[in-house]
Amino acid sequence: MILDAVIYELEKIIDKEHIRYNEPMKNHTSFRVGGPADIFILPEKTWQVISAIKILKENSIPFFVMGNGTNLVVKDGGYKGAVIKLTSINNIKVEGNKIRAQAGAFLSNVSIEALKNSLKGMEFASGIPGTVGGAVAMNAGAYGPEIKDIIESAVLTDYDGNLYCFNKEELQLSYRSSIIQRENYIVLEATFALEKGDVIAIKNRMEELNRRRAEKQPLNFPSAGSTFKRPEGHFAGKLIEDAGLKGYSIGGAKVSEKHAGFIINYNNATAKDVLELIKKVQEVVYEKFNVMLEPEIKIIGED
Ligand SMILES: Cc1cc2nc3c(=O)[nH]c(=O)nc-3n(C[C@H](O)[C@H](O)[C@H](O)COP(=O)(O)OP(=O)(O)OC[C@H]3O[C@@H](n4cnc5c(N)ncnc54)[C@H](O)[C@@H]3O)c2cc1C
Repeated sequence: MILDAVIYELEKIIDKEHIRYNEPMKNHTSFRVGGPADIFILPEKTWQVISAIKILKENSIPFFVMGNGTNLVVKDGGYKGAVIKLTSINNIKVEGNKIRAQAGAFLSNVSIEALKNSLKGMEFASGIPGTVGGAVAMNAGAYGPEIKDIIESAVLTDYDGNLYCFNKEELQLSYRSSIIQRENYIVLEATFALEKGDVIAIKNRMEELNRRRAEKQPLNFPSAGSTFKRPEGHFAGKLIEDAGLKGYSIGGAKVSEKHAGFIINYNNATAKDVLELIKKVQEVVYEKFNVMLEPEIKIIGED
């Protein structure tokens, strides 16, 4: 049960229209699965995020910060607490060879700004469907480069509302991991250091990578991208394919026939279908190749 006092406090700082109750999370995840969040908050200003987490923390209400939900599975029982979605905090500013972007800005939009200003280095990110905050937290990457290669610094808050500006080293970015995930920080803004380049070459590179993405990935079905991290010395998709699991399904969730590294929601899957399929894939791959696949996607909520 949500305390009336908490609702009262939240509605004092955030417009009522931007707070929802029992909000189905399947509407906010690219997998299109997930039960309701007790409270769902869409702040428009950074200070609202900080004030909201203070209120939630003081009242012992669990909370989860999300971007575009493209690396996320919310279980069917929903999230008992508050989900704070940052996509309405999305300013992007170009300052010379640098781009400063708020956490909720889409990577695709940041990449377009880079292109418009003949700045190279962000081409790899133009087809990743997440936000700046999600990408920094995950150290997202594609076709070689990752966020680590272009980030200069990020403004963060901890769960007590203390602000920090961390440089690249302090962010401790490694393969799909960062200090943000490990020590519970929230990304509010990031600055990317890019280089002047040739606008046509930048555009061509973006188009080429997005063509490769469309050719190889099942983009016409809901998913959360690569389901598993790349295990040392292997490729998850190859192991899954070699284990004979391409096209294997549980309920409405299926190992994509186009790319075995992707689990797709091909027919009204529940989160339970997706999670059972993940477990099955892990078991079979472990049995055949002695490699334990670790999910890349984040899983929250209750069964
Ligand atoms: C079709 C498809 C293709 C994809 N291709 C790629 C790819 O090529 N490379 C790649 O790396 N990923 C890829 N992904 C996965 C996903 O887009 C990235 O991981 C992305 O960075 C997630 O961003 P998001 O805003 O959607 O984060 P969410 O899914 O909303 O959240 C993911 C995690 O980040 C945390 N998070 C989000 N915002 C913040 C914040 N402001 N502060 C702190 N933590 C935060 C969340 O708490 C959660 O733990 C793909 C996904 C899809 C659906």
